[in-house]
Amino acid sequence: MPARILNGNAIRDQVYSELAGDITALRDAGIRPGLAAVLVGENPASKIYVSSKTAASEKLALASFNITPPATITTSELLAIVEDLNRCDEVDGILVQLPLPAQIDSKKILEAVDPAKDVDGFHPLNVGRLVAGRSNLVACTPLAVMEILRRSEISVEGANAVVLGRSDIVGKPMALLLMHANATVTICHSKTRNLADTVRRADIVIAAMGRTAMITPEYIRPSATVIDVGINRITDAAQAESIFAHFPERLASFRAKGSAVVGDVHPDVASIAGAITPVPGGVGPLTIAMLMSNTVRAARLRRGSRISAAARS
Ligand code: NAP
Repeated sequence: MPARILNGNAIRDQVYSELAGDITALRDAGIRPGLAAVLVGENPASKIYVSSKTAASEKLALASFNITPPATITTSELLAIVEDLNRCDEVDGILVQLPLPAQIDSKKILEAVDPAKDVDGFHPLNVGRLVAGRSNLVACTPLAVMEILRRSEISVEGANAVVLGRSDIVGKPMALLLMHANATVTICHSKTRNLADTVRRADIVIAAMGRTAMITPEYIRPSATVIDVGINRITDAAQAESIFAHFPERLASFRAKGSAVVGDVHPDVASIAGAITPVPGGVGPLTIAMLMSNTVRAARLRRGSRISAAARS
């Protein structure tokens, strides 16, 4: 039986309609949550990400601030921008789009963001809080995965979960969230031996490696839940023909556009998994929704006492 498709766009719409209520409560207290995006230089992929985040802010009527310094900016100039945003009361969330140019000390920049405005959850203080199980602001992509699992009623407690990838922004926080939700978690990476054997033991597989369609049906236990975080753009016709051999519509779309976006999971896995997120339309839309949710949360945590004050007056 083909897998249940976990539709990220539909879940995103649910999240947005719930957020609208929180945003209205804040607005009634004179607070409009604000998100500032710092986009350094002209990286085309970063520009697309930031514009979709800006569009989401506008859809939810959040205040949106875009700061676009040139690629030649120095670390100290960028630090000054971050410090200005830290001081600005209308800014609840600061996102510094990665990657930054080579001359910039990225760690220094991320550590300069006020932890109370760190809607990407990358600041060491927020990472430490997550480790301790006392999280405030958590990285958006792992949060998105948990939201998909929860809203799709996929049981995490006691499940064997395998996380493929150990990056700071996806794999590590993902493993921690799953562990706190009482899964038994295995983290795999490029040095893992017998990867397929390990992944085949999983009830829940989270693929976040950046390796195009690497996870084929041989890796997957029948009926497992497979969450595909990978976003890989392909332009090679032979590769597209092989990946989309059983998906004529996707192959036709590739031929028309000359490119396609594919996850880390091979599309054929849908024939064996119990449930699977598509790429595109799975984790990606939810990641942006979690950024919006973190911005509203940051506004409530930082300025929320003004809501009760407004209600009293
Ligand atoms: P990353 O920093 O490059 O980390 C990749 C991880 O995968 C590393 O831990 C690496 O192991 C591991 N890995 C690489 N090749 C492997 C292999 N053959 N077998 C097992 N493990 C392997 O990537 P990332 O930033 O975490 O992103 C991962 C993917 O998610 C990318 O495709 C990215 O575009 C996508 N992404 C999507 C969203 C979204 O919203 N959907 C958000 C963020 C990222 P080592 O540590 O040993 O090198």
